[in-house]
Amino acid sequence: MSYELPPRLLNRLAHAQRVTVLTGAGLAAECGVPNARGAQTGSWAEYDLIELATPQAFLRNPRLVWGWYAFRRGLAERATPSPAHYALVDLEQHFPAFSLITQTIDGLHWRAGSRDLLELNGSLNRVRCYECSTLCLSWDTESHEPLPCAHCGAWLRPDVVLYGEGVSSQLLRQAQLAAEHADVFLIIGASELAQPAATLPLIARRAGAYLVEVNRDETAMSVLVDERLADTATAVLPSVAEWLMGNGLSREGAV
Ligand SMILES: [Zn+2]
Repeated sequence: MSYELPPRLLNRLAHAQRVTVLTGAGLAAECGVPNARGAQTGSWAEYDLIELATPQAFLRNPRLVWGWYAFRRGLAERATPSPAHYALVDLEQHFPAFSLITQTIDGLHWRAGSRDLLELNGSLNRVRCYECSTLCLSWDTESHEPLPCAHCGAWLRPDVVLYGEGVSSQLLRQAQLAAEHADVFLIIGASELAQPAATLPLIARRAGAYLVEVNRDETAMSVLVDERLADTATAVLPSVAEWLMGNGLSREGAV
């Protein structure tokens, strides 16, 4: 069933050249992928996140942290991208400039086909060397033990931002530029915007973007946005993509 989109939003989208999207844990949850706290089930419930998801924890007990992220990767792999993930791929193909910034680490945007993707918090689908930072995209994911870096022999660690670590400054700069240059900025399923992601909608707004929130729940951003769609991304985004594709708004086809 089609979601009724506000005419003001449709008008903005029809004239937008640059669209930037920020997604969060709510979108992952729609696919059944829990956030860090939600993933503390079974034997993992015995641990504090400080023991599982900090650089200090990795130094102290690399096997435990490795196992925790292997468990979370398994949860993500068993999930499938939602219709909202696929709608975002359609949006990427539609707008002349499009950036997708995500706080999620589950790799579902990539699996759906999004390529203009800034994974602020990294991805469960990569590991990197703790010492020399060499990235590794293919490794024995069944291994219960952390594996050594092929270059220097130090431990490989998850390529995610652990608690207490910062987002890569280069990635953050790219995200800030995408926010600054957006005509329309969509905040999707991001109930808890952690810093520095929380500043991105503010940057976009200051630069004149039309701010849209898609979230069933009210958030700290709700009072700041120009348009709030109080529903799931899965309910809303396919209708946005369908409308863009189906209303003679194809850039090439427009007369
Ligand atoms: Zn190394």
